[in-house]
Amino acid sequence: MERPIRLRYAPSPTGAQHLGGIRTALYNYLFVKKTGGKLVLRIEDTDQARYVPGAEEYVINSCAWAGITFDEGVHVGGPFAPYRQSERKDIYKKYAMELIEKGHAYYAFDTPEELEAMRNRMMEQGNPSPAYDHITRQYMKNSVSLSRDEVERRLANGEPYVIRIKMPRNEEVKFHDLIRGWVSFNSSQLDDKVLFKSDGMPTYHLANVVDDYLMQITHVVRGEEWLPSAPTHVMTYKMFGWEDVMPSFAHLPLILKPEGNGKLSKRDGDKYGFPLYSLSWPEQQISGLKEKGFLPEAYINFLAFLGWNPGTDQEIFTHDELIAAFSFERIGKSGARFDPEKAKWFNQQHMRLKSGEELAGMLKPYLETKGVEVDADYLTKVCNAMKDRAVFIPDLYELGTYFFGDIESYDEDTIRKKWKPEKQEFFLLLIEKIKSIDNFTEHSIEAIVKDTMKEHNIGMGEIMPLLRIALAGVLQGPPVFAMMDVLGKKNSVDRLQKALEKFNNFQ
Ligand code: GLU
Repeated sequence: MERPIRLRYAPSPTGAQHLGGIRTALYNYLFVKKTGGKLVLRIEDTDQARYVPGAEEYVINSCAWAGITFDEGVHVGGPFAPYRQSERKDIYKKYAMELIEKGHAYYAFDTPEELEAMRNRMMEQGNPSPAYDHITRQYMKNSVSLSRDEVERRLANGEPYVIRIKMPRNEEVKFHDLIRGWVSFNSSQLDDKVLFKSDGMPTYHLANVVDDYLMQITHVVRGEEWLPSAPTHVMTYKMFGWEDVMPSFAHLPLILKPEGNGKLSKRDGDKYGFPLYSLSWPEQQISGLKEKGFLPEAYINFLAFLGWNPGTDQEIFTHDELIAAFSFERIGKSGARFDPEKAKWFNQQHMRLKSGEELAGMLKPYLETKGVEVDADYLTKVCNAMKDRAVFIPDLYELGTYFFGDIESYDEDTIRKKWKPEKQEFFLLLIEKIKSIDNFTEHSIEAIVKDTMKEHNIGMGEIMPLLRIALAGVLQGPPVFAMMDVLGKKNSVDRLQKALEKFNNFQ
């Protein structure tokens, strides 16, 4: 039976969600949008010890900034509410009990000391990775090894217990992963994971499977680190008799360090001077890509390429183009190398796709922090002139501060090299010509300046660097005539006149 497509993003609120998590959310989102399905945001907060206040809001805000929206979830509600596992606490015990009744789970009363002793004993016997499994369970204190009366007595006494899955011996567990193809495990390699804890909370494994079932999830798309848990989950579906509605799995490739040597870690951001998080969170000492001046469109474009490719040469994709092009078939199995330089390139390309007006709107809050106030039309012109040079939004200002105030210093080296008093006369003539332009545009300025230079047989290299320094103080910047167009006639002429005095002082 074809079921309506339903996916979920299920983060645990254990800290700021870094870009790897948002990539998972993005792939879920792209698939849902492409197929007309629904996306759920479920918060998996069963591990109270690792709960970090604010982490849930952080993930919601990070997704919202990236343009990843949800149809159901903690923040928007929906038919399967509540979507926060701590609020669904009462649901899970029943399912744990069902597995006990079916003989697929059991009570275990072992104390932390007893578990520790078991591990030590096995290590001494030469087992490097001791586990509570089909062998060890025989020797531990649980409802498999103890008599029924003894179990009843312990339960009646209120002794702390956990409920463990009874992983069968030597059974093949096979499932089809949309990225990796058939994956198979032998159940003897799997341990008897805890499903339910004495604090009345389910573990991740039970809550995850039960909720995916109850919320009618059809595809589980998550990071590769969950691949080892998948066989336990598949077995759990079987034990409940839910195989026919078991979701398809897609385990996404790891994100690797720029050098390709191992998994990208949270600390790598500092190392490369590049935030690995969407948003700043000052209390957690986290700096964000948004605050660095990254565009959300560029963010999802570069995140999409961390593991996926369209199979063509196209690299720059809009939000809608990503949805149209996305498929699991084009996600690679091997780790995706994170390259901060490439990420910057994506941002630069997306900056170029924006209109001056849009960029001006985004630059405004940054200017406010600098106490700079400018007219909206003027700002639009500056952004148009600067957008090919800027990598991040603040660069529109930082690389062109001369557009926002007087020139503070001039590139003296170049002036010394290029300025000769004989040039003064020509410079004055140019100023007069520029003053006489009625329709002051990049084009008309260029025409007049070039004609005048030609008439007087003056080469570009002799005068252009000086004009540039007169207008901006530095040699870098947009084309000289575009710069004058932005500055306007009066300001351009004033700057040229003022610079002339400076130039003469350098003799
Ligand atoms: N709560 C898990 C996490 O924090 C979700 C894993 C899954 O999607 O099944 O990533």
